[in-house]
Amino acid sequence: MGNWQKNIRQVRPYVPGEQPSQPNIIKLNTNENPYPPAPGVIEVLKELDTDRFRMYPDPSSTMLINALAEYYQVSADQVFVGVGSDDVLAMAFLTFFNSGKPILFPDITYSFYDVWADLFRIPYECPKLTEDFRICAEDYKKPNGGIVIANPNAPTSMAEDICFIEEIVKANPDSIVIIDEAYVDFGAVSAVSLVEKYENLFVVQTFSKSRSMAGVRIGFAIANPVLIKAINNVKYSYNSYTINQISLALGAAAVREDAYFKQMVQKIIATRERTKEALEPLGFHCFDSRANFLFAAHNKIPAKELFERLRAENIYVRYFAKPRIDNYLRITIGTDAQMEVFLQKVKKMV
Ligand SMILES: *Cc1c(COP(=O)(O)O)cnc(C)c1O
Repeated sequence: MGNWQKNIRQVRPYVPGEQPSQPNIIKLNTNENPYPPAPGVIEVLKELDTDRFRMYPDPSSTMLINALAEYYQVSADQVFVGVGSDDVLAMAFLTFFNSGKPILFPDITYSFYDVWADLFRIPYECPKLTEDFRICAEDYKKPNGGIVIANPNAPTSMAEDICFIEEIVKANPDSIVIIDEAYVDFGAVSAVSLVEKYENLFVVQTFSKSRSMAGVRIGFAIANPVLIKAINNVKYSYNSYTINQISLALGAAAVREDAYFKQMVQKIIATRERTKEALEPLGFHCFDSRANFLFAAHNKIPAKELFERLRAENIYVRYFAKPRIDNYLRITIGTDAQMEVFLQKVKKMV
């Protein structure tokens, strides 16, 4: 046998949550939105000109970028779009983290960051969250090759305030700070307002959670034009046509439906708070969530056991068999009706 095996890149891939095909599952395991996308999105989909599918999409995604620029009151050259925020983040790691110095992100955070760092051979260090899972600003005030903070953090659900984010960005003028705001619409404050002031800040958001479009795959970033130009250069060196025609049209339509968007987000926040209030008397501790999920531990029953028993009842939540967090469940907020069924089942288990 040839020696080609040694030429294969060895990677330890990210493991996404399960996407079961059975219809009767209450799916609270991947932080999807339980409500449909805005009515205007569905209208635009019905009217799509399929004859145009012959042609490549607009490589610069102008329609979607203009809609986002208008919504966030920035200029078009401050916006970058990608195939979900995972695509934007991966491209950002590749573009911005080339110093050779370790990049910094918390020990407990989105578990894709270390995978990208390994894939792109970027050295990294993971300062520990405190015992109560907060980020220590001081840990991010040492020489580094870049910083990534999810705010709100996943899977802890908690957000740091905007002053805290500003403190980190300000303390690191020589490195690029990525703030991953996948959940920001559910009650945290966005760092987009700091982009004018700090040229080293790169804010990433997604249509997957608050805009009910995980299946369409749209993510975006807002930053100063120099960073946007740099990440576009990498994108055009890799794949010019990341966003397809359908996503461009549907994404732009979604941004225009602000009233629907705000209403759905408020609904999920209300359900989250009700679910938290119902879980606490049952012996659960839930952190103060600013996301569309709760991170909860029971005072007697191990999380793994609850995870398995819920699964047997066709209720899927997320369990991470990892140090420090292996006694917690990450529970996505579904509809009121779904959460009612979840709570009824949980009551019988505790
Ligand atoms: C869900 C999530 C993402 C990725 O979402 P996309 O579907 O790729 O947009 C990125 N970061 C965090 C923290 C997430 O939870």
